[in-house]
Amino acid sequence: MSDLGKIVTLRYKNREIVYTLCRKKVKNLNLRVRAGEVFVSAPKTVSESRINDFVLRHGEFIRRAIGRTAEPKKVETIRAEEGEKHRLLGKDVILKVMKGRTNKVTLAGDTLILTVTNVFDDCLRLDTLSRYYHDVCVKTVGAALDRYYPVVSDGSFEKPAFDVADVTSYLGKCWRKEGRLRFARLLAQYSPRAVEAVVVHELCHFYAHGHGKDFYRRVLRYMPDYRERHKEFNKTKGYRI
Ligand SMILES: [Zn+2]
Repeated sequence: MSDLGKIVTLRYKNREIVYTLCRKKVKNLNLRVRAGEVFVSAPKTVSESRINDFVLRHGEFIRRAIGRTAEPKKVETIRAEEGEKHRLLGKDVILKVMKGRTNKVTLAGDTLILTVTNVFDDCLRLDTLSRYYHDVCVKTVGAALDRYYPVVSDGSFEKPAFDVADVTSYLGKCWRKEGRLRFARLLAQYSPRAVEAVVVHELCHFYAHGHGKDFYRRVLRYMPDYRERHKEFNKTKGYRI
C-alpha cells in the first residue's frame, strides 16, 4: 500500500471499526475493504464527521466484508468480563473487573485488574482494556525498535516512525519509502522476545520487499534465533482486542 493515511477508530454496535482515511483528488467518498482492512478515500473538502457518518452507514457491509476475510489467526471474542482469560506479554492472566473512580488497568502478578466507573458498561470495559493493550504494544514495540534499529540499519536508513492499529491480517507492515512501520495491537499478547522478532523482520524490509532467501539470511544475521522466537505466534493464537 502506498497511500498512508490517517487512522480513525469508530464505535459500531459494540465493536470498533478502524479505517484508514486518505485524502485524495477524488469526487466522491470511496470505501473499500482489503485483506481485512478498511480504506476510505475522500476529497479534501469533506469534513471528517461526514466521512464518519458515511463509514457508519456502511457498518454492516464492513463487518461482513471483514468477516469474509481469511484471518491468519483464529480470533476469539473478548468481552472484558470478570474471570476472563487473557494473555499479556506472553503470559496468561485472569481479568478482574472492579468499580472505581477512574478507568484504568493494572497488572498484579497474574491478575489483570480492570477498573471502570461502571462495570456494566460493555463499551467502557472494552475501550479501557483496548487502550491498555494499545499502550503496552506501543511500549514493547518502542523498546524493541530502540534496541534493534541501530543493529539492523547500521546508519544506512533513518529510524522509522511507527504506529499501532487494530488489525488482525498482519503483525507488522513496512512502508519503506515513507520510513514508517505499523504493528498489530494484538502483539501486546505476546512476549517481548517474539515482538522483537517482528520488529527485526519489518526493519529488514528496508533492504528488501519480498521474503526470499536473502531476506531471511539477513533476518537471521541480526537475530539468529528468529525462527524460534517466531514460533510463539503459531503456538498461541492471538485474540482481537
Ligand atoms: Zn515481511
